[in-house]
Amino acid sequence: MIQVIEPATEAVLEELPRGGIEEIDAAVDRAREAFPGWRAMAPGERASRLYALADAVADRREELAVLEARNAGKPIADARGEMDMVAATFRYYAGAPERLLGDTIPVAGGQAFTVREPLGVVGLIVPWNFPLTIAAWKLAPALAAGNTVVLKPAELTPLTALRFARVALDAGIPEGVVNVVAGPGSVCGQRLVEHPHVAKIAFTGSTEVGRSIAAGAAATIKRVTLELGGKSPNVVFADADLEAAAAAAPSAVFGNAGQDCCARSRILVQRSVLDRFMDALEDAVESIRVGDPLSEESEMGPLISAAHREKVSSFVNGSGDAPVAIRGSAPDGPGYWFAPTVLCPVDPGARAAREEIFGPVATVIPFGDENDAIRLANDTVYGLSGSIWTRDGARALRVARAIDAGVLSINSNTSVRVATPFGGFKQSGYGRELGPHALDAYTEVKSIYYATS
Ligand code: NAD
Repeated sequence: MIQVIEPATEAVLEELPRGGIEEIDAAVDRAREAFPGWRAMAPGERASRLYALADAVADRREELAVLEARNAGKPIADARGEMDMVAATFRYYAGAPERLLGDTIPVAGGQAFTVREPLGVVGLIVPWNFPLTIAAWKLAPALAAGNTVVLKPAELTPLTALRFARVALDAGIPEGVVNVVAGPGSVCGQRLVEHPHVAKIAFTGSTEVGRSIAAGAAATIKRVTLELGGKSPNVVFADADLEAAAAAAPSAVFGNAGQDCCARSRILVQRSVLDRFMDALEDAVESIRVGDPLSEESEMGPLISAAHREKVSSFVNGSGDAPVAIRGSAPDGPGYWFAPTVLCPVDPGARAAREEIFGPVATVIPFGDENDAIRLANDTVYGLSGSIWTRDGARALRVARAIDAGVLSINSNTSVRVATPFGGFKQSGYGRELGPHALDAYTEVKSIYYATS
């Protein structure tokens, strides 16, 4: 059995059967059977089923949000926002089946053109930090393109994925098109990666597991897209609106208790304004309300598990190269609480500045000039996201072009929009989710030549 724990109380929320290899194989068989019918469905009909699914998620927003808030330990207001994004993602890709366009290409002796074909059965493996949202980023384009799927949620947070499978059936998605198996990654996830009838793996999770998935998928030349870890920079120049930058910085690193691949956890601040910035940041960090995920007041919940809290704590050890400068407050147990913490000044070589902490711990690193800022921003194996704060527009564009990362924002700390591509450079992965680009990840381009002479 899987015991699903509520991180805010440490109580058992639900017990579920633990899936294994047999359950994955059976789900792949169901998805294979459903594939020809789903693929052949008229594009307009597939579109209307996806619109119905978007509506069904919106209708059940509160039920799904409460389940996600309790299981993942996230504030209910955030969980509602995530369900809105899930519905918006299905609505966005519902427009795709009728717009999977190809090219016509001039060639000698006939006509050449391209079409986009679905891949077949796609395995979706997702993490625990944004359980249903990240699943939706994969499900919606995969289904819109005519694939069928087997979704494996994280062991810690399977509840919304399982509930979603029921919502999809009720909304008119045919039996076998969406299959969900809850079970351990090393068994169920690995079986999906090795399965000869799974055409592609879309994975979000740690860089370490991503590496093993890429290696495992090589045996069957499976298509793979990887959304992995991050250690993103938040670059604050002296000419920025410092109050706005300091007010936005906490949500960029403490949102979702820092368990966010896009967390701007390396705050790079121009040395001449470091003190002013830290004063403003202190006020912002001390006012973060950490508490019960189901309270409307809460802005930050607990960490996902005791083991994860242990890992996060190891970065806050009073070391000289990463001293604690600001510590917010958090409730006492039960619950895996952790107070928002800012380390400053952090040596760029310190472990806290180099490894993904994936918790509410920000590292502040001072820099000299623009070149120094770019060098430090790129001084990481990751390249997922980042922010640039400056009132100088030309500088903003120069720095945005120079940072090796997939998703950058200027005078803002946001990363994700349904209509814009999302994904990493370097060891943050490859492939893009969201926007029109995601459809590339779930289709093959086929070139057809028709001889006319
Ligand atoms: P994880 O890599 O431990 O697990 C992710 C998923 O992979 C889970 O479903 C897990 O069961 C499965 N898995 C584990 N071992 C496997 C194996 N050998 N074969 C196949 N599947 C396996 O990650 P996590 O701890 O759940 O999530 C945190 C990580 O996810 C962080 O590194 C974070 O940065 C990353 N993340 C990245 C993005 C992004 O879009 N780039 C988004 C969210 C989270």
